[in-house]
Amino acid sequence: MSDLILFLTTTPIALYIVIGLLGLCVGSFLNVVIYRTPKMMQQDWQQECQLLLHPEQPFIDHQKLSLSQPASACPKCKNSIRWYQNIPVISWLLLTGKCAHCKNPISIRYPLIELLTCLCSILMVYKFGATWQMLAGLVFSWILITLTFIDFDTQLLPDRFTFTLLGIGLAVNSFYLFTTPTLAIWGSLIGFLCLWVVYIIFKLITGKEGMGYGDFKLLAALGAWLGPMLLPLIILLSSLVGAIVGIILLKVRKENQAFAFGPYLAIAGWIAFLCGDAIMKVYLGN
Ligand SMILES: [Zn+2]
Repeated sequence: MSDLILFLTTTPIALYIVIGLLGLCVGSFLNVVIYRTPKMMQQDWQQECQLLLHPEQPFIDHQKLSLSQPASACPKCKNSIRWYQNIPVISWLLLTGKCAHCKNPISIRYPLIELLTCLCSILMVYKFGATWQMLAGLVFSWILITLTFIDFDTQLLPDRFTFTLLGIGLAVNSFYLFTTPTLAIWGSLIGFLCLWVVYIIFKLITGKEGMGYGDFKLLAALGAWLGPMLLPLIILLSSLVGAIVGIILLKVRKENQAFAFGPYLAIAGWIAFLCGDAIMKVYLGN
């Protein structure tokens, strides 16, 4: 094992390949997490409602969904997907994007999320090399990808991911990995409060809720990883990306659909993580 680690830390190309393949496999798992977590949460809510409204009739769920059970199946024909049909990207290409049984199309989003996870993972190796920062950066990227797509699909940022991200951010910075422990704590506090203040002011003026608590928790988590100094950049970047995408979506859809802010926060947070210091240097002119 130690030989393998030594080999990876001294042979950059091997490290890129291993982390790239790992990224593809993790991306495949993230597809499951992104698809199933909202359904699992809905199941839990139904169970709680049932308990509250009809405590005498306990909720019996014969097919409780979890991340591992049941095995992956085609959503259309319910045929289970065999391991060789579940190889990241390659299987989708070999099946030419269609289910092996019913020939219904499989969304191109699955291989794209696998490729995105692979790319983000490789960029962490490029940025940090064979270091603890790189390993932490992988976890950071993977949780943000999960949050981005769940929020995009459902307008939800589940606590189980925002709080995990926050906790890991504080933990890694207790070892001074990206910023000092003190700055990590202040980053998370200020991250939460600044969006919360915007939310209150927006609500007082318009009577509407422009954001959800999930957004504050996500910015708190980003603050825990990056410290408070990069928060203005994250807010600026996310507003910029959000405004551009929002205008495009308004033009395309021609309707005022609910608008998730979480994906833009996550994307801006990831950009700030990768090259926030460089952007700030250019911006401050030194
Ligand atoms: Zn099928």
